Amino acid sequence: MLLEGKNALILGVANQASIAWAIAKAFSREGANLAFAYQGERLKENLIELTGTLPHPSPVFQCDVTKDDEIQNLFSGVRHVFGRLDVLVHSIAFAPKNELSGRISDTTRQGFQTAQEVSAYSLLALAKGAEALMEGPGGSILAMSYIGAVRVIPNYNLMGPVKASLEAEIRYLAYDLGPKNIRVNGISAGPVNTVAARGISRFGTMLKHHAHAAPLRRNVGVDEIANTAVFLASTLSSGITGEILYCDCGYHIMGM
Ligand code: NAP
Repeated sequence: MLLEGKNALILGVANQASIAWAIAKAFSREGANLAFAYQGERLKENLIELTGTLPHPSPVFQCDVTKDDEIQNLFSGVRHVFGRLDVLVHSIAFAPKNELSGRISDTTRQGFQTAQEVSAYSLLALAKGAEALMEGPGGSILAMSYIGAVRVIPNYNLMGPVKASLEAEIRYLAYDLGPKNIRVNGISAGPVNTVAARGISRFGTMLKHHAHAAPLRRNVGVDEIANTAVFLASTLSSGITGEILYCDCGYHIMGM
């Protein structure tokens, strides 16, 4: 029970395959109290159905991260139900599908702005909301990244610079929030078959390539990513902040 009594807010559960849902189940197993946010009405029922399978009822809030008022309402709601927050999980990304194939130089201004706003800027806005609820003992903030931030992955395109931006934010936030004992870390996960991932052109090829090239000769399991999140959320990682921890069966160490 590594997270017993901890209050965690998780953003990014779209369905059962979401990385955020695996994290939610692992946090629940470790004794955390959970709250969730969904982007819009379309996903509300699905999320309520999923959270109903957890052993304890969990509040759900609407929050489209492109809307400041919804972010503000989210944290007011979390304050109301929990009083304080120990863990924030940012597991959100979006880029228009037409930007996830072909050449990065064909990226549109609007596509880039949307991807940056939803996938990277949102971490800053959410961290600010979480900071106010983590006063006192501090807390742990986690975000999900991918190796496309630091290496070229064909078709990942604009999401590479966007994830690089997210990873830089993690370091800057770690510096800002460190004096309050709020740790900020990222998990750079190997590819997982989710709705967001399927938007990337030739994602199946990416999965096969990772499994072939990784030292463990397989793709990472979503439960392994979730257990890494438990580690970063718990006091086991109390000396770690500003880190991007790879959970990718070792793929990132390879040069050939
Ligand atoms: P997913 O299940 O599709 O989750 C992505 C989530 O982002 C969805 O819940 C989606 O909600 C949410 N989202 C998009 N726009 C939003 C907005 N404006 N406001 C609030 N939420 C919004 O995909 P996933 O693969 O688990 O992705 C989770 C994170 O892991 C992402 O940061 C992704 O880049 C990262 N990651 C994924 C992989 C992979 O291979 N799957 C690998 C490394 C890192 P809607 O469905 O309503 O749009």
